[in-house]
Amino acid sequence: MWRITNFIQFLKDLVYWVPKIWQDRDWDPIYLYQFMRWKIERMAKRITKERRHIGWERDVRDMKVCIALLKRCELDDIYDDMYGFYERKKCEKCLSEHQALKKKYGEDSYFWHSCDPCVKIFRRNHNWLDAKKKADKTYLFKLLDKRADRWWT
Ligand SMILES: [Zn+2]
Repeated sequence: MWRITNFIQFLKDLVYWVPKIWQDRDWDPIYLYQFMRWKIERMAKRITKERRHIGWERDVRDMKVCIALLKRCELDDIYDDMYGFYERKKCEKCLSEHQALKKKYGEDSYFWHSCDPCVKIFRRNHNWLDAKKKADKTYLFKLLDKRADRWWT
């Protein structure tokens, strides 16, 4: 009987993982974070369903925090979206220089001029975002280090 149960579980896993493996690539760390997230999502779902051990609620809560942090690690742009740094209005000097570059190199050109004060602001924001990303990753791996050994049913 257990062999039939195992085989049915194998088929269910196959149905879940084959499309995920199809999406997987090896050239970017986002795929590593994505795989970890899928695995933790499955574990959280199972622990929530089974409710076999004392403190499962806390474990699932920790897992959800890890999932949220992994999503942020996967989507680098999420930080930019969260803080809207790239949607900020450009200064007049930068805009006029940009128009001049467009005239010179065409409408589709990727050239962008930034004046010194704008470069300073951009660098400061960029450094701040980097610090945020690092803090998220540090928290993620500390949480995994501290709590992941408890995650079983
Ligand atoms: Zn400017």
